[in-house]
Amino acid sequence: MTSNSTAELDRLLSQALADISAAKDSSAVEQLRVGLLGRQGAVTGQLKLIGAQPPEERKTFGSAVNRVRDQLTEALSERASAVLVAEREAAIKAEQIDVTLPGRAGHSGSLHPVTKTLRRIEQIFTRAGFDIAHGPEIEDDFHNFEALNIPKNHPARAMHDTFYVSDETVLRTHTSPVQIRYLEKHTPPVAVIAPGRVYRCDSDVTHTPMFHQVEGLVVDSDVSFADLKGALVFFLEEFFEQDLPVRFRPSFFPFTEPSAEVDMGCVFCAGEGCRICGHTGWIEVLGCGMVHTEVFRQVGIDNETYTGYAFGLGIERLAMLRYGVDDLRLFFENEVSFLRQFS
Ligand SMILES: [Zn+2]
Repeated sequence: MTSNSTAELDRLLSQALADISAAKDSSAVEQLRVGLLGRQGAVTGQLKLIGAQPPEERKTFGSAVNRVRDQLTEALSERASAVLVAEREAAIKAEQIDVTLPGRAGHSGSLHPVTKTLRRIEQIFTRAGFDIAHGPEIEDDFHNFEALNIPKNHPARAMHDTFYVSDETVLRTHTSPVQIRYLEKHTPPVAVIAPGRVYRCDSDVTHTPMFHQVEGLVVDSDVSFADLKGALVFFLEEFFEQDLPVRFRPSFFPFTEPSAEVDMGCVFCAGEGCRICGHTGWIEVLGCGMVHTEVFRQVGIDNETYTGYAFGLGIERLAMLRYGVDDLRLFFENEVSFLRQFS
């Protein structure tokens, strides 16, 4: 074995050991392993030289190279485990949770403004002695129209942009059919409200294809328009929590006679006139009237003995007025930032 190749091996060994102990992480150790023991590695290169040695030196040189290889293999594996331990410790330290940090508050959900408004309406009327009734959303022509004095081809049908399920079945266009269903099953005196979804083929800033109404009905032996007026003024003042001027304007509905539309003083400008009330100081809130004798006839109630009043109001409309919302569609877009304002 020439002193030349021994010196070369020594240099290789001491340089490699220094490099290994300086390797900072697993990938550096792996890089060194490939550079030394890989197919193109420096030690592998030395192993290939064994055969090129003169025969008498082959054995000595061979065992010297093998010793270097074994020594480096061991050094590499020791270093690899050492950096792995260090790396794990660092990873654990990085993932440590500081339990003394203040926590993030959770968000709790809230009721939808339409639900809140509906519950408020129900509360006020049940306190005044009204029952709550529900009816089907897919309604037959008789209950939605005929029994409410809107026969086929009556012009009032054009006021309802109806979704037809079939010739004789519709998505109810109002909650009024519930008063028919209620009167079919109950004998007066009755006082009932019927809240629920209704459907009309219409969509813009103030109309959505589905919205909510509350129908109210009172039938007794001595019900007058004054009772109707008193009940609605009571409701509006309870709902808006303030004394409000209320006015009744003559109107037309096929199922009431006489009929009226009800305006209240604008809650935004106190009657001064603003954009929301169209600078009139008044806001239209509901429709009402005395139950038409034809409706009583359809459900077999004696209209000599009984009189009644009915009213209908839009829940979204009241929600918009109470919360100052100016676009009806916001209620149905499920925008979390909008809904969160009502929690
Ligand atoms: Zn106003």
